[in-house]
Amino acid sequence: MKLPSLNTQILIGAVAGIALGVGLAGLGQESAVTKNTLYAAGLVGTLFVDLLKMILIPLVFASISVGIANLRAHRQIHRVWVATLGFFVLSMTIAIVLGLSAANIFRPGEGMHLSMFADATRAFEAKQMPLPEFFAQFVHGLFQNPVSALAQGNVLSVVMFALILGIALVVGGDRYKNLIQLLQELLEVTLLIVGWIMRLAPLGIMALLLNLAATQDSAVLGTLAKFVAVVIGTTLVHGMVALPLILYLVTGVTPLHFWRGAREALVTAFATSSSSATLPVTLRCVEQHLHVKRDIAGFVVPLGATVNMDGTALYEALAALFVANLVGIDLNFTQQLIVFFTAMIGAIGAPGIPSAGMVTMIVVLQSVGLPVEAIAILLPIDRLLDAFRTAVNVEDDMIASMVVQKLTGA
Ligand code: ASP
Repeated sequence: MKLPSLNTQILIGAVAGIALGVGLAGLGQESAVTKNTLYAAGLVGTLFVDLLKMILIPLVFASISVGIANLRAHRQIHRVWVATLGFFVLSMTIAIVLGLSAANIFRPGEGMHLSMFADATRAFEAKQMPLPEFFAQFVHGLFQNPVSALAQGNVLSVVMFALILGIALVVGGDRYKNLIQLLQELLEVTLLIVGWIMRLAPLGIMALLLNLAATQDSAVLGTLAKFVAVVIGTTLVHGMVALPLILYLVTGVTPLHFWRGAREALVTAFATSSSSATLPVTLRCVEQHLHVKRDIAGFVVPLGATVNMDGTALYEALAALFVANLVGIDLNFTQQLIVFFTAMIGAIGAPGIPSAGMVTMIVVLQSVGLPVEAIAILLPIDRLLDAFRTAVNVEDDMIASMVVQKLTGA
């Protein structure tokens, strides 16, 4: 019997996972069936994510250095840089403006009070992370001995070292052609391994989504229903209207065509809540299905996975205004402008791992004097919201690579 395509298998896995998860939630957390199934799903889901993380570091390293080194043939490095960074800033700006507008229009949190959540906030230990300290930490994390960065899996420092190595390879020209060849082969072999890991994707995604659906605390979800609906709705508007529109206007690619090529990565991002873990799949989608050249994709996508996070930026802005409503503070225009900038910094600084945006949101809250304890209210619903924002973070990286390819004529 011929199996359906991997794409279809992944979709079937996703739907089956959610359906089974909802079924288990109905049975209750105490039932033996639920416990055993959750245990098995936990194992399979973690195995899939571990495999992706295993291949992530060699992939990021090889793909960025080779991507930049190969740009030398096009003599277009400058234009690619400008287009890439320009797109990142523009798309995050649109995301934050959408988040702030939605918060101002729908005013989630109004009529509620922080004191309603006393139990949650009491148990929460507030961390201090003033903006200058956060910034210093971020800058400090950029450069690290490459061997230890590779060993510790520090994606940001690996990205930085690979960028510098790539530039050195360009400057060195033909002198280092053996090294370029070696890195090229490393990249090809890691992509081959990614292909193998992807065979596990339908099962892995089913397990992850089963867990998500079965363990989501519906009571908290109910209390915060309006906020959850506004976040998901606005994230979807950005992901299904704003970004596809930019893509269509610049490249002429229709949303349907994009969705067909991108869904493996979008579903994986939704299930894993991690742009980094999804990166191997994202690269595969843009190169194989969306026909972005390896040089461009290899540079734009891994960089985007670490710094370009529209979903996170949108969420941080919207959630900050939600917290302001909870404590009964009306943020004026200047304060909202501060939220705008700190949300962008928070999104850039957030690593592509689950709930990273929650940590960097502390910076946003503190910048306008909001209570950090409010994070305790948001944490129980974060697994669900993180799924949506991570999918948009990944979508944005794919669209960035297609737009940059078009704009630079590479
Ligand atoms: N989980 C997100 C990502 O990996 C980051 C976040 O928490 O916002 O893209």
